[in-house]
Amino acid sequence: MSKIYPNIIDGTRDETGATFDVINPSTGEPAGCAVNSDGAALDRAVAAARKAFTDWSTKPWADRQQACARIAQLINENADELARLLSTEQGKPLNGVGARFEIGGCEAWTGYTASLELKPEILQDNEEGKVELHRVPIGVIGAITPWNWPVLIGIWHIIPAILAGNCVIIKPSENTPLSTLRLVEIMQDALPPGVVQALASDGGLGPQMTDHPGIDKISFTGSIPTGSKVMAGAAKDIKRITLELGGNDPGIVLPDVDPAAIAEGLFWGCFINNGQTCAALKRLYVHEDVHDAVVDALAGVAKNMPMGDGLDEASIIGPVQNRDQYNIVKDYVQDALDKGASLVTGGVPEGNDLFFPTTILTGVEPGMKLHDLEQFGPAIGVTKWRDEDAVIALANDDKCGLGASVWSGDADKARKLADKISAGSVWINKHGMIQPNAPFGGVRQSGIGVQFGVEGLRECTNVKTILS
Ligand code: NDP
Repeated sequence: MSKIYPNIIDGTRDETGATFDVINPSTGEPAGCAVNSDGAALDRAVAAARKAFTDWSTKPWADRQQACARIAQLINENADELARLLSTEQGKPLNGVGARFEIGGCEAWTGYTASLELKPEILQDNEEGKVELHRVPIGVIGAITPWNWPVLIGIWHIIPAILAGNCVIIKPSENTPLSTLRLVEIMQDALPPGVVQALASDGGLGPQMTDHPGIDKISFTGSIPTGSKVMAGAAKDIKRITLELGGNDPGIVLPDVDPAAIAEGLFWGCFINNGQTCAALKRLYVHEDVHDAVVDALAGVAKNMPMGDGLDEASIIGPVQNRDQYNIVKDYVQDALDKGASLVTGGVPEGNDLFFPTTILTGVEPGMKLHDLEQFGPAIGVTKWRDEDAVIALANDDKCGLGASVWSGDADKARKLADKISAGSVWINKHGMIQPNAPFGGVRQSGIGVQFGVEGLRECTNVKTILS
């Protein structure tokens, strides 16, 4: 049997219950196993969280900051183990923008977030009275996290929540639970029991969390259909929610770019984490004057990127994380080819493994799945454009509105175009480059609420006013 990574309940390792194997997508071999938690495990965790909340929520802010800073230090001390475990279960390479990068991001996000503070505000103080605004913790937050950036997204859910005085029960994806379980185990050294707990599930625990009367808020990162179910479930007892859902991010390349200079930035915009990133560039609109040169330069980068087993130090791109996602990307590429798109590099793979060649197609148009839907994988469709107003209208005509980018040699021109794009974040000459002090969230069906920075911290609180 493969190594078990237990749940962390009330500060202790909890192995109660049946287990399931987690598969290494690079090899098809088990990476380890986790507990398939049931309702009783959830009840134990909720009881421990509610007990811990009484003390944790009333601690001085500085104490919680200190605990978060200690977590950053613990991540640093255990970075190698966490990166290897992450690579083994997720598939992403140790190197490049891979597992070591992700764990480094966890430390950076935790360290930065630990420095934030929400101070009470005085809204009025005059002869008619005084109004104080306080940000108070919500209670117990259930965090449901995905398989693409499992540890970093876990940190985004956990750290602001506990800094603001909440307790968190995190349920990582069944595809990649191990690194989150281990992260939460490592964190226990910095926290009282019950403040952060982790429960794995092979399916079915998510809805029980949204249903649970002892959980006050659900924060969810994942697909739009599941986000909609979370919202419906949370409506029953008016739980708070933060939803970070899908994106179908457009990137608009203007005729004044230097194709060679932007090729690498475009590549990582499209193919960061093998394209399995909510804010990756997913629709690439290139002006006709530079279309061929940009496509050639982008394909040149793609063809030279080493792909292989995540644990191989030479790999920069790994496999697709799971078979379902692999099949989605395969279907979208085939659909585009069937409808007249042209293959530049890559294509529909024949093999039985999860290594999917980095794929670029031109002539991709509305009506093709690769254009209209989120591929969430290593394929990008390029669309040629001529008219600026038309391409902006096309970029904005999507149910998603997470990110977007403008690529230009003229910074002022790009900045003016950014104002016309409807998305939560607009990048100029880069894409998907999130940072801990810049609030991140989507418009339309890309989600509700934001993460990161003070705005993200506020999402973890209720407003309380005191009027005297
Ligand atoms: P989903 O987005 O469908 O989410 C699966 C998770 O949601 C599981 O943890 C599951 O828990 C939980 N869940 C399911 N139903 C409910 C519910 N009613 N209430 C609460 N939780 C629930 O993930 P998939 O892996 O299936 O990904 C599908 C698509 O999502 C991808 O193709 C991609 O497009 C997108 N995606 C987006 C991501 C992003 O970063 N925005 C990340 C990953 C995927 P349990 O198993 O315990 O029931």
